[in-house]
Amino acid sequence: MAEFTMELNDEQQEVRDWLHGFAADVIRPAAAEWDEREETPWPVIQEAAKIGVYSLDFYAQQYFDPTGLGIPMVMEELFWGDAGIALSIVGTGLAAVGVLANGTEEQIGTWIPQMYGDVNDVKVAAFCSSEPDAGSDVASMRTRAVYDEAKDEWVLNGTKTWATNGGIAGVHVVVAVVDPELGSKGHASFIVPPGTPGLSQGQKFKKHGIRASHTAEVVLENVRVPGSCLLGGKEKLDERLARARERARSGERVKNAAMATFEASRPAVGAMAVGTARAAYEVALDYAVTREQFGRPIVDNQGVAFQLADMRTSIDAARLLVWRASWMAVNGKPFTAAEGSMSKLFASETAKKVTGQAIQILGGNGYTREYPVERMHRDAAIYTIFEGTSEIQRLVIARTLAGVPIR
Ligand SMILES: Cc1cc2nc3c(=O)[nH]c(=O)nc-3n(C[C@H](O)[C@H](O)[C@H](O)COP(=O)(O)OP(=O)(O)OC[C@H]3O[C@@H](n4cnc5c(N)ncnc54)[C@H](O)[C@@H]3O)c2cc1C
Repeated sequence: MAEFTMELNDEQQEVRDWLHGFAADVIRPAAAEWDEREETPWPVIQEAAKIGVYSLDFYAQQYFDPTGLGIPMVMEELFWGDAGIALSIVGTGLAAVGVLANGTEEQIGTWIPQMYGDVNDVKVAAFCSSEPDAGSDVASMRTRAVYDEAKDEWVLNGTKTWATNGGIAGVHVVVAVVDPELGSKGHASFIVPPGTPGLSQGQKFKKHGIRASHTAEVVLENVRVPGSCLLGGKEKLDERLARARERARSGERVKNAAMATFEASRPAVGAMAVGTARAAYEVALDYAVTREQFGRPIVDNQGVAFQLADMRTSIDAARLLVWRASWMAVNGKPFTAAEGSMSKLFASETAKKVTGQAIQILGGNGYTREYPVERMHRDAAIYTIFEGTSEIQRLVIARTLAGVPIR
């Protein structure tokens, strides 16, 4: 187990500086254009692929870094560049983690490389769990997967919504109900391979922020996938369902494994929020020391200076919570106080607040698209919504502290 550290080691600092260069030279200059276009920034993803930032190897290396600081560092730097473009670059990772967490070695080896494609033909992947009537309440999911034993195929029907890269992805990872009696314990995840008939894109959403990231409905009509596309395999699923049925009969309560997975993945979203907050804070600081009113820089007014002090303090506090939770996740520490949810809650609320303060410090300029803080403020609003809303984070933290089941 790695000791918790608050400093990046030499190698991590090198990677961070390299990522920062990419974020500053390639992502940030493209941000306003792709925000306006509201389209996936394929050329930027391709640039990221060329230098190895958009690749399975790179993420795997950071994901398994025993200090736990690899993924937060990557997220903070890329999202410092621009949240919409960065989400287009890391969105595939959400689907890849779904396969890593539940797939067999063969499934991991077959599907994850296809999710990324190659430098000359980059692909993206989508993770489809949310539905129109199943957002925070995942247990009310309706998309159904039925096994056709004669053909050894699963048949998927339903509508997914809010899927990042939904419909434009090659590989879709779809969560569906296999046993409606068991609530969220009766769900399973499936790979839908590229070009599978019956999967189509529904509505593409026009969003408030992160507009360079594609978000859409995914419609599944009699989508047939081979038995081998059930993540983890049929035998493991049957065993898991049998255990869940037995527990349901006996009334035994067990820790929710999905919750543990969320605790481990939420710090990454917290790190994205830290990146956006830091970006806005830097613009505001720079503006405050250069903009003069009443014959002196506006930072000479305590009303402005104290805001900057609070902004920086919150960002540093958020980063520390993110790093702690990420270290806990990598080192298998139990999240006895829902530290993963805590980090996401605090960092996302910080990003929303700090980007708003940045607009205030830039005055009229802050309110225009001539300066990036307006976009950053729109982008920041997503962090308190996806991967569990702030209310759900509070609910999880409170129930964990009180020792009562989450659901
Ligand atoms: C841009 C974007 C990208 C996304 N990407 C993906 C993706 O790739 N894959 C995917 O599967 N999903 C994705 N999502 C879905 C996202 O995870 C959901 O939007 C989120 O979980 C909230 O669900 P909902 O929108 O249905 O809100 P609801 O669950 O309807 O919540 C509405 C409001 O009620 C509150 N609320 C609900 N229940 C409670 C409660 N028990 N106590 C207190 N308050 C409560 C919520 O906090 C919220 O304020 C994405 C969403 C967006 C906007």
